[in-house]
Amino acid sequence: MFSMNMRKSIFVRTIVSVLFLLNAIVAMAQSDRWQQKIKYNIAVNMDVRKHQFTGVEKIDYWNNAPDTLRKVFFHLYWNAFQPNSSMDVRSKELGKTVLGTDRNGNPVQDWDARVKDRISGLNADEIGYQKVKSVKVNGVEQTIKEHETILEVVLTQPILPKTKTAIEVVFEAQVPKQIRRSGRDNAEGIQYSMSQWYPKVVEYDYQGWNANPYIAREFYGVWGDYDVNISIDKQYMVAATGVLQNANSIGFGYEAAGVKVPTITTNKINWNFKGENIHDFVWAADTAYKHISKKVGSTVLHAFYKAKDASADSAWNNVLWAAEKVMPFIERKYGKYPYPQYSFIQGGDGGMEYAMATLLKNSGLGTVFHEWMHSWYQHILGTNESLFGWMDEGFTSFAESEVSAYYNQNWAMQSPFISDATKAAIAKNIERSKTLLPLNQNGSYESYFRLAKSNFEEPMTTHADHFNTNYAYSSAAYSKGATFLSQLGYIVSDSIRNKILLAYYNEWKFKHPNANDFIRVAEKVSGITLQWYKEYWVYTTKTIDYAVDDINVDGNKTKITIKRVGKMPMPIDVLLTFKDSSQEMHYIPLDLMYGEKIAENQLPRTVHPEWKWTHPQYSFATTRSIKDLKSIEIDPTQRLADVNKNNNKLVIPE
Ligand SMILES: [Zn+2]
Repeated sequence: MFSMNMRKSIFVRTIVSVLFLLNAIVAMAQSDRWQQKIKYNIAVNMDVRKHQFTGVEKIDYWNNAPDTLRKVFFHLYWNAFQPNSSMDVRSKELGKTVLGTDRNGNPVQDWDARVKDRISGLNADEIGYQKVKSVKVNGVEQTIKEHETILEVVLTQPILPKTKTAIEVVFEAQVPKQIRRSGRDNAEGIQYSMSQWYPKVVEYDYQGWNANPYIAREFYGVWGDYDVNISIDKQYMVAATGVLQNANSIGFGYEAAGVKVPTITTNKINWNFKGENIHDFVWAADTAYKHISKKVGSTVLHAFYKAKDASADSAWNNVLWAAEKVMPFIERKYGKYPYPQYSFIQGGDGGMEYAMATLLKNSGLGTVFHEWMHSWYQHILGTNESLFGWMDEGFTSFAESEVSAYYNQNWAMQSPFISDATKAAIAKNIERSKTLLPLNQNGSYESYFRLAKSNFEEPMTTHADHFNTNYAYSSAAYSKGATFLSQLGYIVSDSIRNKILLAYYNEWKFKHPNANDFIRVAEKVSGITLQWYKEYWVYTTKTIDYAVDDINVDGNKTKITIKRVGKMPMPIDVLLTFKDSSQEMHYIPLDLMYGEKIAENQLPRTVHPEWKWTHPQYSFATTRSIKDLKSIEIDPTQRLADVNKNNNKLVIPE
């Protein structure tokens, strides 16, 4: 999803070495973590007058685990949208926390601004529900137990390892009035935003069942194939995950060029979509959607939106235009987009990512790029967002900023769909971004610094649902997570960090990587030991603060002392600038790294002996005289997330 309180900026990207990217495919053994596999065949029949539907799910489930399963769990997400549900109570509880005061001195409450206490006010015909009528496993009716948003199925016969099981679920549902993500009749006027709409099998992985009640946060699932049939009144256009199978008999802009779509004589249309190797399925329906599409390589990009006026047409055409322009850059940096289709669907509530699709409130490109990049981190890599939310939102936010910078610098001025005034504003932002360090990622650092200085920070190992505040969760997941990657560039160099991201994709796609899996890839690609980085940055809330401590004459040389003030140790770059404008880079690796980063620029660089993490001070010398020295600066790139920059630079008085 897209966090609205995050400040997004436009930055100029440092030049990416094309040669380096060509070399970026790292030969690496594929990890062999087992994965459950699933095949859904879902058919639903929609009643648009009551906003209800009935459905049957036929599931093939392959238990690839070495374990015998005695239960199976399902998510029933929509049961959260009922007064006094866990989501309702949790939202109201968190809303009581006062984070501070705004500019006018009014208290800022820790609300999820979209949920607040709105669930409490839902009437019987506005609540959401999913009622499972029956579950059959291999044809045998099972005992089911509903725990609000989780359904527990106690199996009459256990599911043995390495077996395939047939499950049939009969259910009915009511679409809630839109509160969070899914629902009907949202503020943008979209009639149906249908996410989390079907009973979904909970992922069983190497950590066991991930049966998390739905209280606010995000999603995790079993990879597999979806074959979905949606029967709905013929006035509705449906946008969805997957490829429409009966496009030429339905039309709505899906039909192949030149095909004459037959007149539909029935009251309802059955829409059949198929998607493979995905772990979720979303759809949306509206009687006034406009549909545009564009083929880019082997992928068809779609946009579905409400065309309120001509500006909406140009804005959504710009979405597809921009997506086409940035796609080669994205695939080069983050890995190949593996699906035949992607849909940008106007669906309200900020932005939320799904398989092969996103629901977006509007056509803003920052959110467009953000949600699309979730295809990599939420869908293809599929990190468990309850446990490692920062590896999804943080990595996605990092990529979003890089993609936005690339787009603005290289393409925005050429778009035929944006006005001269917008272009002028972008040009101004590009200029401003050159002064904001670290390049492209400044917004995430600023947000992380605010978190670190607040009293609310909790370690990123906290379960996403169990953070004490919405604020600490979102700042950690989005901003501290993005800072993790940017700062990794400081530790191993940006070019090696980029290689790591590609190697991570290649090794862990479709395998639910955890934090250690990422670190192992980073270690193998960089040749640097990085456990300490994970332990401090992810497991604790310790902060980084280094200071220029002292300068002394040391014979013909000048001795410089750097001090570690914060509790988290880091390698240190120090830039010396002399009165004749010459510069020297001094690099002090941390002992825990057992290695050193490559030189990142053309400046003469001295690599000093490692700094032991136990030692609060470190001294090194330059052969230049103290009289020549103009300034000493720790990390001029500002990728080091130093919470106190005031002591990072010493300018020697004239
Ligand atoms: Zn997101």
